[in-house]
Amino acid sequence: MSFHSLKLIDPLLQTLSALGYDKPTPVQQQSIPAVLAGRDLMAAAQTGTGKTAGFALPLLQRLTMEGQAAPQSVRCLVLAPTRELAEQVYESFRKYGSKLPLRSAVAYGGVAIEPQVTKLRKGLDVLVATPGRLLDLHRQGAVGFQQLQTLVLDEADRMLDLGFAQDLDALFAALPPQRQTLLFSATFPEAIRALAGKLLSDPVTVQASPVNAAAKTVRQLVYTTDKKSKPELFLHLLRAQRWGQVLVFAKTRKGVEQLVGLLKAQGASADSIHGDKPQPARLRALERFKAHEVQVLVATDVAARGLDIHALPLVVNFDLPTVAEDYVHRIGRTGRAGAEGNAVSIVCADEVELLRAIETLTRQVLPREEIAGFEADHRVPSTGAGPAGTKAAAPRGAKAVSQEVSRDPRGIFGAPAAQTKGAKRDKAAAPAQDKARGAGRQQGPVGPGVTAGPGGAKQRGPGTPGGTGPAAGLPKGAVFVTAGRGAKSAAKVAAKSAAKAMARGGRSPGGRSGKR
Ligand code: AMP
Repeated sequence: MSFHSLKLIDPLLQTLSALGYDKPTPVQQQSIPAVLAGRDLMAAAQTGTGKTAGFALPLLQRLTMEGQAAPQSVRCLVLAPTRELAEQVYESFRKYGSKLPLRSAVAYGGVAIEPQVTKLRKGLDVLVATPGRLLDLHRQGAVGFQQLQTLVLDEADRMLDLGFAQDLDALFAALPPQRQTLLFSATFPEAIRALAGKLLSDPVTVQASPVNAAAKTVRQLVYTTDKKSKPELFLHLLRAQRWGQVLVFAKTRKGVEQLVGLLKAQGASADSIHGDKPQPARLRALERFKAHEVQVLVATDVAARGLDIHALPLVVNFDLPTVAEDYVHRIGRTGRAGAEGNAVSIVCADEVELLRAIETLTRQVLPREEIAGFEADHRVPSTGAGPAGTKAAAPRGAKAVSQEVSRDPRGIFGAPAAQTKGAKRDKAAAPAQDKARGAGRQQGPVGPGVTAGPGGAKQRGPGTPGGTGPAAGLPKGAVFVTAGRGAKSAAKVAAKSAAKAMARGGRSPGGRSGKR
């Protein structure tokens, strides 16, 4: 199916072709005809499915074909839960509508209201807004809804989670009853179904992917460890697995800042996004991360929705989310629009109930691994969650202990987004380094999906992101050490001393500097 066959007008087709969108995604194939026909829509579309274009393209077309906005009124209103998502949806409307004579704007709290009032004065074809600020604008008389044709609720479940139910009710009461309503939600708890029942009239239902399921293209893995070891394990993985651009989620604002402080102290480029930061600083951090000027972005769940970061390879849950649905949203930042992604969760015994909730919600048992030197003294119990049959993915008690050693000559923290480059350089540097470090270790073949070397290696668990074995995901040329007889304790000692060296900000074993 082509965009052309969806009967989109020429200016939109030209824009899509310039953007390199060859064909509509499944959610676009379903939603574009329905929205063009003026139907209400209830869409279970998770992030990364192309859902924004799924509603923006047909709405832009309808707005172009059907009149123009009167002063202080809005023809199409898109409600979004967070400022970040509002910005992003607004940017999408601007991008897709760049060849159309339409006026659009975005409005959210935390910034001055006056410029938003000024923009509204002439009237808008599209307004993207968060509920609280929109209500303020409406109460001030800055915006009227008498011309409203279409209401879009984007990430409706998140809006309810964030406590916008009352604001939404007040807004719905101000909207004309005759309108088109589109409801997008990643999850469909009872409250969303009730909202849909109230707002939608004979809706077309669109389901782009199973409800509450994470994108199939995201490989998920849990590393179990003790709570106190989390920061060191994170640093170890960042170095040993040579992570490139990584989005990290932590539970609290304080936790976010602590991790950023630790990373910076170790020479990594890191920044944060959370609710305590002023909006311009949050947007700047996001822009720098997108531009690969910052390698690690640490966020609270405020950033979990809506962030569209092109080809983001890895999301890390430094803490598991307290609301299981947020796990789906967090890991939905990677593996977008069919691209492959990895999601790693660092889990301690305290979090077993959160893990159980996630596994129950997503109907799977997440594969687990432990890293030598960081094994949990307080074992994370099996959750017993997930449907029958999924346990095969992570045999009860399965435990793969591995220590990956990077040959990255550039230091503990590679330059942002230099993964592939780094891998090539590593390959060239490999033989000499093998010699230097080879003694007393099993060395498996290299590359993704490769299993252990000879000598009865003990790996049994599922693989690391990037393939099926513990070596998977490592760059070509990486040395992979498995736990053969006696190797576990040796590896543990080596990893502990590496972690200590990192904590001191000094050199790790193998001569790599943490502060280049
Ligand atoms: P969304 O789920 O709306 O956040 O979109 C996820 C990403 O997919 C965005 O970066 C879009 O630019 C991209 N995208 C949307 N539709 C298409 C398409 N038909 N072909 C290729 N990329 C797309």
